[in-house]
Amino acid sequence: MSTCIFCRIVEGSIPAKVVYQDEDTLAFDDITPQAPVHTLVIPKRHVAAVQDLGEADQALLGRLLLTCRKVATEKGLADSGYRIVANTGRDGGQSVFHLHFHVLGGRHLAWPPG
Ligand code: 5GP
Ligand code: ZN
Repeated sequence: MSTCIFCRIVEGSIPAKVVYQDEDTLAFDDITPQAPVHTLVIPKRHVAAVQDLGEADQALLGRLLLTCRKVATEKGLADSGYRIVANTGRDGGQSVFHLHFHVLGGRHLAWPPG
């Protein structure tokens, strides 16, 4: 069994509220939502962070962003807008080292981030 929490969600050994999935990507609601909509979009294959991606991952990155778009549309955010965030590494505030995009919306999101 994997030690990575998000790999375990992919395997189904940790439950999650799955919003969407396809062959390469999975979207599920964040366990500690920071906005009315807070969904995480991940690759099913383990990749630790944006910094670990390379040229060979172009198609996967496209799929991940299209899944973010699909989630935002299905959650009713297409008109109101939303934010896609990929915290990366220590200063980026990443706490789970399996690549994920946060899709946040349903309220006005402040800028700049803290
Ligand atoms: P990061 O801080 O790495 O950018 O984001 C990790 C996110 O994963 C956090 O928003 C956190 O709430 C979420 N998270 C951590 N563990 C779990 C879990 O077991 N299930 C779900 N659905 N979300 C989780
Ligand atoms: Zn993983």
